[in-house]
Amino acid sequence: MPCHTDPMGLMRMDLEHPIINLSLLIHFTVCHSTVLFLEQAVVAFHGVEAVAGSLVADEGSVVGGNMIISIASGKGGTGKTTIAVNLALSLPKGAVQFIDCDVEEPNSHLFLTPTIRQVTSMGIPVPRIDESRCTYCGKCAQVCEYHAIAVILKNVLVIDELCHGCGACSYLCPEKAIFEVEREIGIIQTGSSNGISFVNGVLNVGEPMASPLIRKVKERIQRDKVVILDAPPGTACPVIETVKGSDFCLLVTEPTPFGVNDLELAVGMLEKLNIPKGVVVNKSDMGDREVWNYCDSKNIPILMEIPMDRKIAESYSKGIPFVIEDPSYIPRFEDLFEKIKNSIIGKSPEKE
Ligand code: SF4
Ligand code: SF4
Repeated sequence: MPCHTDPMGLMRMDLEHPIINLSLLIHFTVCHSTVLFLEQAVVAFHGVEAVAGSLVADEGSVVGGNMIISIASGKGGTGKTTIAVNLALSLPKGAVQFIDCDVEEPNSHLFLTPTIRQVTSMGIPVPRIDESRCTYCGKCAQVCEYHAIAVILKNVLVIDELCHGCGACSYLCPEKAIFEVEREIGIIQTGSSNGISFVNGVLNVGEPMASPLIRKVKERIQRDKVVILDAPPGTACPVIETVKGSDFCLLVTEPTPFGVNDLELAVGMLEKLNIPKGVVVNKSDMGDREVWNYCDSKNIPILMEIPMDRKIAESYSKGIPFVIEDPSYIPRFEDLFEKIKNSIIGKSPEKE
């Protein structure tokens, strides 16, 4: 009997049809020893002498999907978005989801030029008072951690810009005198770019509530992809909101005294959040060696160094990712990704 293999899956040898087509096998999940179990089960059919099959995984799984990598920096202007975009473009098409969480100043779309397919308005629930029920007891003001409600004599003031929409006041109002209305804080755009699934959040101008929008943006995470989160700069609440839940955080810095200082702050933040981390040193041939000394002292791996390169600056100014202008950088980003992946699965990453 000839041996058959087919990308459709397992073949029943005598009828020469995939077993899935014959409804003998509807669905299965491969997990550790399940393949062997399946082979034994199929061989048990009358007339089946051997089983051959092929397993097909989506690209996200092949490159090690189901991982969330945040790209952050202690300060702006270090090349964080450049690293995030070029890393995304260096991985297999279809495997990556790119999420721009820098909702106050999103700029990754300038380099990825995504086709936007959906724009969704995003708001948070803010309280309104039913004066006919309110007894002005002041409990809502006491419970609000953000000082967004004040009760003054027979007035309840709600300061929308301070309200985080947590709902505590309406939940605890003894008179059920609080109802909620939606206040738009920004939009979420979804689309794709060159096979990369793309999401960004755009905060309304003057809106101070970045964190709730980042939370909403992160609800779009596709768990079967390699998810790259481009964080806002700094170490304030929006950055924490972005990086929390990441499997790994890549910190982009440059070798200057300011760079080291802000790197230290970012490292402190990640240590509190217990997120594994590594460093990319941008413009690595300028400044001094303090970044290397600091990383050595903290046992933080430097995973990539990018020297000053006029071609990179030129492609940035044209809005073109440098791996597209100069594909010789792609293997270096592939290597960076391997190191991150190894760190996530528990192998210590090798320093560059
Ligand atoms: S908790 Fe309710 S009843 Fe008391 S002041 Fe606030 S809105 Fe009025
Ligand atoms: S919803 Fe939360 S943040 Fe907003 S006013 Fe009520 S308690 Fe304060």
